[in-house]
Amino acid sequence: MRCPYCTGEDTQVKDSRPTEEGSAIRRRRVCPDCGGRFTTFERVQLRELTIIKRSGRRVPFDRDKLSRSIEIALRKRPVDSERSERLISGIVRQLESLGESEIPSSTIGGLVMEGLRALDAVAYVRFASVYRDFREAADFHEVLGEIATGTEGPAAASGAGELPPVAGNVVPRKH
Ligand SMILES: [Zn+2]
Repeated sequence: MRCPYCTGEDTQVKDSRPTEEGSAIRRRRVCPDCGGRFTTFERVQLRELTIIKRSGRRVPFDRDKLSRSIEIALRKRPVDSERSERLISGIVRQLESLGESEIPSSTIGGLVMEGLRALDAVAYVRFASVYRDFREAADFHEVLGEIATGTEGPAAASGAGELPPVAGNVVPRKH
């Protein structure tokens, strides 16, 4: 594994242990060239997944990108990292079990929305507001109504969106 700091080739594993309920191995690594420390995760990948974006472009599925989108939605929310990790792992397993190697980005968006709605209402609204590209206050009210009733609105069925960008400015400021 190449060092992310100095690009040295020979990093060493200092510690290796199971994590995420045994579904992954976490390794602490150190670079003998620059002393840099970093962590890697080894996970089972049942199949290579390709995401079909709204534009029709195909990109490899990126678990880290999914993870960042969910972390942004959950920022400063009272949800511990173990539960958010379980959500991410659960979404990945659902994608893998679809039996398709190419998956529309809207499918992932739908799974994230379902998961966040169960986990934290505020995170759900944050994600939904970016994912569905809210333009009017009425859109917010529609989603808030969904949370209250637990039903999907018509926008959910037609929401062929992308995962939101990971830029920090997509999250509403803390008041
Ligand atoms: Zn290094």
